[in-house]
Amino acid sequence: MIDNIDLHTHTIASGHAYNTRNEMIAAAYQKGIKVFAITEHAPAMPGSCQRIYFTNFRVLPRKYKDMTVLYGAELNILDYQGHVDLPDSLLQEMDVTLASIHPPCFVSGTVEENTDAYIGAMKNPYINIIAHPDDNRFPVDYEALVKAAREYHVVLEVNNASLSPSSFRGNPRECYQQMLKLCIKYQVPVVMDSDAHVDFMAGNHDYAREMLEMADFPEELILNSQDGMLYEYINYKP
Ligand SMILES: [Zn+2]
Ligand SMILES: [Zn+2]
Repeated sequence: MIDNIDLHTHTIASGHAYNTRNEMIAAAYQKGIKVFAITEHAPAMPGSCQRIYFTNFRVLPRKYKDMTVLYGAELNILDYQGHVDLPDSLLQEMDVTLASIHPPCFVSGTVEENTDAYIGAMKNPYINIIAHPDDNRFPVDYEALVKAAREYHVVLEVNNASLSPSSFRGNPRECYQQMLKLCIKYQVPVVMDSDAHVDFMAGNHDYAREMLEMADFPEELILNSQDGMLYEYINYKP
């Protein structure tokens, strides 16, 4: 499986990650990553960047040697309508955007309410990826989630950090087993992301890859090859 894209990482700017932008980029490059994104937590996450951080990406080069470097955000889904914590006017300027549910920013509701929250976010045309939909502390209807991903042209993430032994998420393997089966049924693409909060994890998808292999997941639905359909799904166009 070709795997040279990592679209979800954090630096010290997120407040609970431990390396600089330059350190993360260098680590990803060393691993052979060809398209690398830095996606800090949006402002509702305690200790993360303020809104103004996300307004100045124009100063950053999009190349490091022959690696493409992209900038975006991991947005917090705030409510059961799927509102997020940055305005569309900023999202449409970003290279890549993820939306996700985090305990400090979202109160789990019923299965229907949690599913509506994700689907509401997917309806936003500037949101590209749903990050780590794998946490049974926020139970969802996976059939509805996957069908909505297809309808709204959104990618579902297989998050390496969720699957690592140090993960605090609720039963991610069982969640992914369900989700991946439905992604095959409805032909919905996924992306493996590191969600690295420290440099040595940048570009590391070992647990995510194992999950996809166990699910016998078709390679043509995995977005991690730079020669594949990546640019059909993210804001940035080369
Ligand atoms: Zn984080
Ligand atoms: Zn997250």
